[in-house]
Amino acid sequence: MSDGIKVSGVSKTFRTRTGVTHALQHIDLDTRQGEFVSLLGPSGCGKSTLLRIIADLETPTTGEVRIHGGPAHRARLEHRIGVAFQDPSLLPWRSVTDNVALPLELAGARVDSGAVADLIQLVGLEDFARAKPRTLSGGMRQRVALARALISSPELLLLDEPFGALDEMTRLEMNTELMRIWSERSTTTVLVTHSIPEAVFLSDRVVVMAARPGRIHQIVEIDLDRPRDASLLRKPEFHAYVDQLQDLIFAQRDTPAVAS
Ligand code: ADP
Ligand code: MG
Repeated sequence: MSDGIKVSGVSKTFRTRTGVTHALQHIDLDTRQGEFVSLLGPSGCGKSTLLRIIADLETPTTGEVRIHGGPAHRARLEHRIGVAFQDPSLLPWRSVTDNVALPLELAGARVDSGAVADLIQLVGLEDFARAKPRTLSGGMRQRVALARALISSPELLLLDEPFGALDEMTRLEMNTELMRIWSERSTTTVLVTHSIPEAVFLSDRVVVMAARPGRIHQIVEIDLDRPRDASLLRKPEFHAYVDQLQDLIFAQRDTPAVAS
């Protein structure tokens, strides 16, 4: 088993004028190279903070993150991480095409316009390739952000609720596409999602987190055959996982937070 992401003893404390937040407390997480892992949990349990730390966009208070055997910092500097967050943060003066190509330009790589066009088609925006972000809906902007995250064929893909603003049908379509891309490229992927079915459908393992302080509550292995397609959504073994995860998340509501 080659190393994917190795999170060791990571905690994160935010100190603000209003007080101290233990956003994450002692997180240990090991993934395999090419594994698809989802982070699931109540709002405020530190999912985004953990993802930002893995992306080297935030410094942990304690602990460290290694990616494919090296420091996260190096993976970021070498443009080996693709990120798409809930707020797509596109450059308003650039077209869809130029936004998707941006990571290649930043990495000083050749812009392969065919590859850019392919990804734009993949996310269903071929008719909007020359459009500016302000003319797109929220869901379309998120799809641009996903294409942008994929353009540099990253070794590690980090997605923070990238499908939050999409309607159910488009979401299912994007899930199926994401799974296809992932299985073709065997990209190590971490997805933050609120959707339990989405987590089950896509993941090898689902990390259930708990809040105050943010911590890992339980990790559930999703032992469903691949390749997976929409027909899986009708199978009892799929629903058994959805129920199990729902129980784990609802059970937390009655559990007092551990003292920090
Ligand atoms: P989630 O993504 O699971 O909803 P977050 O990682 O966004 O949770 O936040 C975890 C906790 O850390 C929350 O209590 C949040 O208010 C706090 N937090 C996150 N970012 C900051 C920040 N930059 N400054 C202060 N507190 C923060
Ligand atoms: Mg979040």
